[in-house]
Parts: sequence; C-alpha cells; structure tokens
Amino acid sequence: MMDRYLYQVFESRSGTCWSYDAFSNRMVRLKGLNGLSRPDGLNGSNGRNGPDGLNVSDYDCDFFNRQLETYLANYNFIQPFPDKVKTVHRVGEEEYLKLLDGSCGRLTLELTQACNLRCLYCVYSGKFPEHRTHSDQHMAGETARKAIELFAQLSRRREAVALCFYGGEALLCFEKIRELTAYARQCCHGKVFVHIASNGTLWEDSLFQWIADTPDVYLDVTLNGYGHDRYRRYMDGSPTLEDILRNVRRFQILFPDMAEERLNFICNAYTGQEVEELRQFYHEIGTVPALITGIQAPDRDPLFPVRNEENAEAFRRLRERYLESEDPFLCALFEPALLRIHHRSPAKAGGVMPLEGVCLPLLTNLYVSADGNIYLCEKTEHPSLGNVFTGVDRRSAAALMRDYAETLEGRCGNCWARRLCTVCYQDRRPGDVGPTEEACRNMRERLREDLMLYASVCEETPERLERFDHVEKAYLL
Ligand code: SF4
Ligand code: SF4
Repeated sequence: MMDRYLYQVFESRSGTCWSYDAFSNRMVRLKGLNGLSRPDGLNGSNGRNGPDGLNVSDYDCDFFNRQLETYLANYNFIQPFPDKVKTVHRVGEEEYLKLLDGSCGRLTLELTQACNLRCLYCVYSGKFPEHRTHSDQHMAGETARKAIELFAQLSRRREAVALCFYGGEALLCFEKIRELTAYARQCCHGKVFVHIASNGTLWEDSLFQWIADTPDVYLDVTLNGYGHDRYRRYMDGSPTLEDILRNVRRFQILFPDMAEERLNFICNAYTGQEVEELRQFYHEIGTVPALITGIQAPDRDPLFPVRNEENAEAFRRLRERYLESEDPFLCALFEPALLRIHHRSPAKAGGVMPLEGVCLPLLTNLYVSADGNIYLCEKTEHPSLGNVFTGVDRRSAAALMRDYAETLEGRCGNCWARRLCTVCYQDRRPGDVGPTEEACRNMRERLREDLMLYASVCEETPERLERFDHVEKAYLL
C-alpha cells in the first residue's frame, strides 16, 4: 500500500517555502524552494524551478506534487501518517465521568431571552434556523437557584469557577443578577468570578455601585467602534453607540479604577476593513479588547455581501502590520491562533489522536437555558443534556462525545489539519453528528493563513517566540 502523507507546503511573507507535517507536527523551512506553494492548498508551480532543478508548468501539477512529496519524504520533512488512528477526546470516558463529578468550570445562565436591541447578525434574530428567537421568557428564580445548586455540586473540587449571566440582555434582570451572585457565593466551594454579558445600553449608576462593592464581578460589553451602529441597533432601528459610550464614560468618571479593572470589551467584525476600523478605534481609546471575533452572517443576507478580494487584501495588510509593529490590538487578534501553533504537541502521531481543540461537554461549560434545560454552550442548543431539576444526563454527554469522535475518525482520515483543528460541536447542524463541510473548509483555510503568519514570525520577529514560550498552555484550552 502507498504511504499516506498529510502535509502542507506554504510560503512565508518573504516567499520562503515551509512545510508542515501532521505526523511529526513539525514545521520546516525549505530554504531555496521559493514560490512553490499555490494558494488553493495544492502544491504546484508556475513554470519555476522546483526541487532538484525540476522545471514544471501549470499542466503537470500532479506530477509536480508527486515529485515534491518524494523530495520532502526523502529528506524526512514529512513522514507517513499511520493508517489506523483512533480519534479520542483529551480524556477517556471513565476519567471524563470522574471529572464531571466535581470539576465543572463554568456555569452560564440564560437569564432572559429578551433584548432591547435587534442586532443584524444576532443568532436570535430569526435568520438562523438552528437557534431560538427573541422572546419575553425570563429564567424563573427557582430554576436559577436549582442551576446554581447543581453547579455547586458539579464544581465542588475546583478552587475557582466562573458564573456567566447571559441573555438576550442579561441586565434586564439586574436584581436577579445581584441575588444569584450572592447565592452562588454561598453555595459554591471555590471562588466565584462573575461575568455579565451586556450590550452596554442599560447601565444605571446602581450597577456601577454594586460592581464597586462586590469583588470579582466583570462587565463584558460589546463595543464595535466607529462602525458599531452598522449592525447593532435598538428595536426601532435607531443607533446605540452614543448611549454605550456615554455609559462607559459615566462608569469611568464615577469609579475610574473599577472601570479599568472590571470592564472587558468584546468586538466583532465582518470584513478586514471593519477589523482595521476596530483597530483604530481601540487605539484611540487606549484599550485592548478582551475578545475579537468574526461575524457569522446569516445565509444569503444581502446586508452581508459575500467577502471579496478587497476584504482579503485588508486582512493581508493587517497581518503585515502585525509583523511590522507590536500593535496591541493586532497581537490580541492574531496571537491566540499563533500560540496554539507554537504550543502544539511535539509528539509523533500514534495509534490514538486526541481532539485538542474540542471542549469537554458539561465540564468546560454548563449552559442552562431560560427554561432550565442544559446544553453544551450558548452557541449550540442541541442536544439537551439534562435539566436543572433532574440533573445532568451523563450518559447522553458521554454518548455525544463517543459519536462525535467516531464521526471525526471517518471524516478527518486524510485531512492535513487534524492536529491543529479547533472545529467543535458548535460547527454542526441540528441532527448532524459531525461538523459541516463548510466549517472544515473554513478551518483549513484559516489554519493555512495562521501557519503562514507563524512562519513569517519565525523569520522576521523570532524574539516574539520567546514571549510565546511564557504563555501558559492552560490559557490555550
Ligand atoms: S444585544 Fe445580543 S442578544 Fe441582543 S440583539 Fe444584539 S446580539 Fe442579540
Ligand atoms: S477540518 Fe474537518 S476534516 Fe479536517 S481535521 Fe478538522 S474536523 Fe477533521
């Protein structure tokens, strides 16, 4: 049988070729092989000199690929990937069930399904068939208390846990947040860090005072800079940015230290140009967002035109700027992915392949919806894994993990990205066990870009690698 190699050849910014091999998880700089990789992920050349003086044209890419593969294999830059690899989660089923009994890390409560905004990309806008829509349903006090009691039991071996209030707009239920924070601190064994997800429009002075008086409470506000009102508007379509900025300023004036310490900014963008707008905005206000994410547009929504070459070019410019300067916003944007590559396992692929980028259901996060049902997280509402009144359904959670790992074992067999992939349960459609093809395609494209950027960092700013060394791996999980 022919050896099977899982690898990629790509170029750094300088045009130097690099290879990444999934068997060894190793990247190698291929000096002297400039201009060999093609943007579609195939390895080919446009009539330039290939390895060992091969001269190839567009028409013999297959031939060229075989020659390139032989060359890489001869020099041991790539090694055959084992035929039979069992895909497993980071911990085995027995250990998982043991961990579930006391090591759960986070409780997220969907306090309400109501919101005073109607953001154009909101997953609850009705444009996403796999998600619920906005409604007036709030979580009943008894449901919330039961959720906390259950979480206290499931997290009892942890020294610190997180309690996240989520919505809709969680601050529509401010009184409940106060009560439940006190109740959680009474019930839980570990220190409780509280996060309130907010759209920033309903902040009263009493909220600031409570935060100032209560340790370890954080406000996570979405603030999309100059372009904020493009997507984030009130129900009647009116803009929200001015109100949010006014609220932020009030907090900063009343409690400057608290605002500095307890406000986390979150932002998201659809195009590369919007990311650049965000960069400038955050530079001006002198803050770095805690989280920068992409906007997932609803299917075929004319408000979100298909991304084009100009958008891609804007992203390329951002990467270049990152390489040329220590821009804090761009470090926050690009480095989480670079850190994952930097800290990848040095072990060779063996008979088992752990899923590094997938969370452990109910352990990473216990998500409770307004009606008391338990789900994986706020991004995926299927399947239900129990209820706060009847407890977590351990068997269903373990079965879900088994099915998912089995599906990926079939799916990922020939995928070069399998050791870096972070495709997760949220990338499935309802009823599907595995991720969508589109999620896989996007993942591979993104990883290829990340590898290219990492290779460029190695060449141009190797001193950053030392900084990467000091970031704890726990941060990456
Ligand atoms: S603030 Fe959040 S929940 Fe409300 S509409 Fe916007 S994205 Fe949706
Ligand atoms: S991108 Fe898809 S096929 Fe490739 S490793 Fe990830 S889940 Fe598997």
